[in-house]
Amino acid sequence: MFQQALGSRDHLVCYAVKANSALAILKLLAARGAGFDIVSGGELERVLAVAPEAAGRVVFSGVGKTAAEIDLALQAEILQFNVESEAELELLAARAAKLKRKARFALRVNPDVFAETHPYISTGMREHKFGIDIRKALKIYRSVAGSRWLEAHGVSVHIGSQIRSAEPFAVAIERVSKLVAQLQRDGIELKVIDAGGGLGIDYHGGSFDAAAKVNEYAAAIEQVLGDFKGRLLLEPGRFLVAQAGALVARVLQVKRNGKKTFVITDAAMNDLIRPALYQAHHEIVPVRRRPGKTRIVDVVGPVCESGDFFAHDRELQPVKPGDLVALLDAGAYGMAQSSNYNTRLRPAEVLVEGGRARLIRRRETMADLLAPEMV
Ligand SMILES: *Cc1c(COP(=O)(O)O)cnc(C)c1O
Repeated sequence: MFQQALGSRDHLVCYAVKANSALAILKLLAARGAGFDIVSGGELERVLAVAPEAAGRVVFSGVGKTAAEIDLALQAEILQFNVESEAELELLAARAAKLKRKARFALRVNPDVFAETHPYISTGMREHKFGIDIRKALKIYRSVAGSRWLEAHGVSVHIGSQIRSAEPFAVAIERVSKLVAQLQRDGIELKVIDAGGGLGIDYHGGSFDAAAKVNEYAAAIEQVLGDFKGRLLLEPGRFLVAQAGALVARVLQVKRNGKKTFVITDAAMNDLIRPALYQAHHEIVPVRRRPGKTRIVDVVGPVCESGDFFAHDRELQPVKPGDLVALLDAGAYGMAQSSNYNTRLRPAEVLVEGGRARLIRRRETMADLLAPEMV
């Protein structure tokens, strides 16, 4: 979809690994020519483990990169470091000089754009920890022009996640384009504009025309790129994988407390934390429909936290203990944000391809969990 929407523009889709870092998924995407946006050395190791040939299509984002992570990425000869502070740029220059490897960098600028989304996943305003004030970027690019181990390769921006409207993206890219034009006048020719990720999906069922959304988004960006002739990078995460995944849970009990009915499942906030963390909505449907009326229920997990819920006051098809329910659109920031809280073993992951299912991560065992501990 992104490939089509971008048409003749030279571009690279760098999948944001943090949305769902399953090796099998990285491998599928790499085989289709995708690049990767990583935010840690660990994520780079994942990419290298299944697609070493994709190293040259990796961009490294994140506000706190360690020297060891930078070294790993320099040795792998990744495409671009998205640098988030002057101090980080100095560190990058020092590591590059030490390893005698040229570092291609982009400043991740903070365009001071408000994007309508949950405050925890909004990143593009001056008070956020992300990026470099766009008004300072020019000076920084100038200050390292001619540096032996640093190559000013691009500029990047990422304003947040689950953004439904194309407009904030356009506003941000327009500001970035102006910076690129200014740099060009200064003789600094950037090859890449990295527009980041953040395109949102519809978690509320109904029909969602993903292709139309991508077209609208691509058109909005293309319109403000001005006469930039270089390459456009995009870093979609959620948009590529959210709707491809469901969390399947078993109903343990249906319990009444006063006026409320609780459907207690064997999955919990440790498996899918989005409702607890962002008040996120996931549609919940029984895997097999039973006859009968819907009920208004809370769907909750067994973890000892009142924040351990999947839905409050939700109209649910009738379910009984033992039934399976599917929490939809759990493919992004689901397993990737899971934990072993309450000493709960993470579930298996199954990939469904054209009607065939295959296990891509086995269920965890108690032995896995206890292995790193000493008494
Ligand atoms: C998280 C993140 C993304 C992906 O965001 P989505 O909302 O999943 O598309 C892309 N780029 C950067 C720098 C990120 O931190």
